[in-house]
Amino acid sequence: MDELRGAVLKLEGDLNDLLSATEDGAKPVDLRANKGRLSRMDEMHNQSILLANRTLTENRLRETRRARARFDAGDYGYCTDCGEPVGYARLRAYPDTPRCLACQSRRETDQD
Ligand SMILES: [Zn+2]
Repeated sequence: MDELRGAVLKLEGDLNDLLSATEDGAKPVDLRANKGRLSRMDEMHNQSILLANRTLTENRLRETRRARARFDAGDYGYCTDCGEPVGYARLRAYPDTPRCLACQSRRETDQD
């Protein structure tokens, strides 16, 4: 459990670093900057990718914070849907996961 708690905290730190590292790129593209039209379009395209990645990172960070809260509440490692223990291998791979594999795949199937 200590190992998994460490993994959650490390993941949270890494995601925070990633967000600060991409903060500059998330600022609005300066259209008045003295650049050719094509490079501006490139820049806006690159920014749209960067913003999409940041959204994913922010969502993951939220999930990671919830995982940390579950540690504090003492119910980390139990599926938030069915209450069964989440497999250790799964927690090692995704320390922030709130659900067991069965419940996760059920949700992903429901979304389709
Ligand atoms: Zn479950």
